Amino acid sequence: MKKWYPCELHCHTLHSDGGFTVEELMKAAEERELCGICLTDHNTTSGWDETEQFSSPKVLRGIEWTTYHGHMLVLGSKAYVDWRDAVPVNIDEKTAEVKKHGGLIGVAHPFQLGTPICTGGHWDFEVKNWDNIDYMEIFSEGSAFLNTANKKARRLWHSLLSEGNRIAPTMGRDWHRTRANTFISACTYLLCDEEFSDTAMKNAIENGRTVVSAGPLFFFETERGDTVGDTIESGDHTLHFTVDLKRHEKIDGGRRITPEKILIVSGSGETEYPLTSDISLKTEKNSWYSAELWGSVDGEENMLLALTAPIYTK
Ligand SMILES: [Zn+2]
Ligand SMILES: [Zn+2]
Repeated sequence: MKKWYPCELHCHTLHSDGGFTVEELMKAAEERELCGICLTDHNTTSGWDETEQFSSPKVLRGIEWTTYHGHMLVLGSKAYVDWRDAVPVNIDEKTAEVKKHGGLIGVAHPFQLGTPICTGGHWDFEVKNWDNIDYMEIFSEGSAFLNTANKKARRLWHSLLSEGNRIAPTMGRDWHRTRANTFISACTYLLCDEEFSDTAMKNAIENGRTVVSAGPLFFFETERGDTVGDTIESGDHTLHFTVDLKRHEKIDGGRRITPEKILIVSGSGETEYPLTSDISLKTEKNSWYSAELWGSVDGEENMLLALTAPIYTK
């Protein structure tokens, strides 16, 4: 039986420019009831060994390639791949090398402001082979909701899906240190086996079983039990939705979250539905369908609360 586990996939420590020791990061994650984290310090793996003394949360080992042309997350690679010569025109060769060693590749904060705010933070790599890219941060940093950078990331992701690519959406808190209460956080839920582990996290991302959320657990299943990341026959389907508000309190600091509507986004556009448990959908061939939960947060309306990875049709 698979379950959804809240995780944080982008974390830093004193091993690069974070304010946390590894131990402090692990504690902060545990306080937020996160089941898994990815340790992704800038251009170094020196913090990995320190995580071994903790049984929870589970840690998927990663590194953030921090270059002048973009930040790229690499998770679970069996070998070190040199990031220092990565430039916009050779990125496909570099990602191919990571894939050869079994690593997952994610685009970090694609629309972060670059120089002079954060050098190289804007994604300028000229990717031609998107098959090598497993995931993209649709929500980044503190604002889980639609700030300009997140809006752009969502749009880029949709256009890549419509070109036939399969890319999982993730949230990257880009966690460097704890912040004040005003900080609105979010997480990535991963659908994993009950035997939760770093390998299970990796498999979930690789297979597109992700939900990005400002807190609530939100997902759907078809009448046959297929869910996000799966490929189904095109035609008529009923999507059965779960919205679990109990799951959010530790993650978002107990904000007043009120879901109001569901949006189904696909290659052919967006359709709005009132909040409901079942939606009948006529799906097209060779397309993708992602669900979004919209509502209010502390009285502020029209907020994107959660979005799922797509279910694909053949
Ligand atoms: Zn970064
Ligand atoms: Zn980072």
